[in-house]
Amino acid sequence: MSTSPWTLDRSRLEHVACPLCLGLEFERLAATDRYDMGIVTVGCLGCGLVMTNPQPTSEAIEDFYSRHYRRYYRQSVAPTLSYIRALRIDERTSAAVDFLIERGELRPGMAVLDIGASEGSMLRAVGDRMPTTRRFAIEPAAALGDFAVQHAGCEMHTSLCEFRDSQPEPVDLVIMNHVLEHIKNPVQFLLSMKPLLAPNARVYIDVPDLREYRKLSALHIAHLYHFGPETLAHTAARAGYTVHLIEKHAPPKHPRSLRCVLSPTVPTTLPEPVNQRTGWQVIRSCAHHAWYAHGKRWIRRTAAPLLVFGRSQHRAR
Ligand SMILES: [Zn+2]
Repeated sequence: MSTSPWTLDRSRLEHVACPLCLGLEFERLAATDRYDMGIVTVGCLGCGLVMTNPQPTSEAIEDFYSRHYRRYYRQSVAPTLSYIRALRIDERTSAAVDFLIERGELRPGMAVLDIGASEGSMLRAVGDRMPTTRRFAIEPAAALGDFAVQHAGCEMHTSLCEFRDSQPEPVDLVIMNHVLEHIKNPVQFLLSMKPLLAPNARVYIDVPDLREYRKLSALHIAHLYHFGPETLAHTAARAGYTVHLIEKHAPPKHPRSLRCVLSPTVPTTLPEPVNQRTGWQVIRSCAHHAWYAHGKRWIRRTAAPLLVFGRSQHRAR
């Protein structure tokens, strides 16, 4: 685990086409972010999708997730049970599993795949409620994956490719909990997942709701896409999935979110994306008071250690 701060190396950035409409024209909405890394957030003039552009290359993203992600986002390098409880991750994953059971999407004996499984709390909740399920996880960070195997009793893989190479049984339920917004090309990813699914499979996706952003902290290196209900539905449709449900919800100790349930049945009609510019003004508002957020962050990093030092000097006297 590296202790040096991660910097956004310009040579590891690339301009990408919109994954939804393949458009190349964008409007700049924000040029700053939570960590002041210089992330640029744009809206696609074709379909309205809000995304980071330019984006870190695949190699840069891999470097970030394998060596730096957890330090930035969890302030801890290794998961523990007390940490899971303190962040209410167990409560949040139990709520998601209850939702899937109530809808009849999660049933005994199913093969369940959690993509971006982190420390395994979601699959732990699945196993607690449905012990006869067979649980599979994809998690690139080794420390999290090792913990998840013990915590959730699951089979672990580091990537979708590695999972595919293991020639798994058809998957009945895929769970992607606050993961799709991190993925380099969400349409391609969902497409590549389809051959692994059982014919009647369901895919549960939960993402932050762009319309509910309130602060600059919503914009950061890890989230490459920001979805509203229209762009989430179009992402699913373009990847050849039928949308059964999209709705807002408020998970415990997490941003207000959008959750959806998909099936791998090609929709009969593929609606043309309509650019409703959903959330564009929200992004501009988040960036508007960036100076305040950066000032607070600077005080925390610079002045707080001095205050602690001053107190210890005082005590020493
Ligand atoms: Zn687009």
